[in-house]
Amino acid sequence: MARDADGYPVTRTPAGVARGARTAVDLAAVDERVSGCRACPRLVAWREEVAVVKRAAFRDQVYWGRPVHGMGPADARIGVVGLAPAAHGGNRTGRIFTGDRSGDWIFAALWRAGLANQPTSVSIDDGLELTDCRIVAAVRCAPPDNAPTPAERDTCSPWLARELELLPRLRVLVVLGGFGWSALLPVLARAGVEIPRPKPRFGHGAEVTLAGPGGPLTVLGSYHVSQQNTFTGRLTEPMLDAVLTRAVELAGG
Ligand code: SF4
Repeated sequence: MARDADGYPVTRTPAGVARGARTAVDLAAVDERVSGCRACPRLVAWREEVAVVKRAAFRDQVYWGRPVHGMGPADARIGVVGLAPAAHGGNRTGRIFTGDRSGDWIFAALWRAGLANQPTSVSIDDGLELTDCRIVAAVRCAPPDNAPTPAERDTCSPWLARELELLPRLRVLVVLGGFGWSALLPVLARAGVEIPRPKPRFGHGAEVTLAGPGGPLTVLGSYHVSQQNTFTGRLTEPMLDAVLTRAVELAGG
């Protein structure tokens, strides 16, 4: 696999994503390969343009400007599935949900649930660690207007699929928003998880337990922690806490 100037293995096509994901032996390999991925031309162009133009408040910082891989230990029993990195959040700091308002919400909630060692997430070297929880995004590159296309979602899905496969203790998935929900169900189906018909519908507090090859897997829905939801009161802290408390309970406490 060819490497870029920073040493990351380069993936340029959807077939390359599928192959690179399938042959990744552990989460570290997935993370490294994700970091060098260039399979979606529109998203590559956007993430790199944002990294050059920057937001005025961050003009002195060097943006990451790459795909953002997942975060959290391989023995996690709880997964959190988000949409995609924010242009000036993860795309700037290089860590998922780090450096933006959405991250302020989710990490504070994970801390209240006992799944993070601190309530804030401001930079990649701030000491934040997760316990029993891994956060991933359905799409790993920051999209214009926070809106990946269905084709980009599908191209990126092998990274998500392999990452979930490499979490052998996974019991619960908390999905933030309808986009993540619709991206996740086909990934689970391809992994041999039985998806009922009609498909389970996304909603805040939605809960469905599915039969998977490794045992039961419960999928919980939560409104996304975007400012659109948190500023308007559509998603409140108690609402998010209730979903995470349920996830911890289902995972075995
Ligand atoms: S969105 Fe996913 S598949 Fe597309 S370039 Fe980024 S990491 Fe690669």
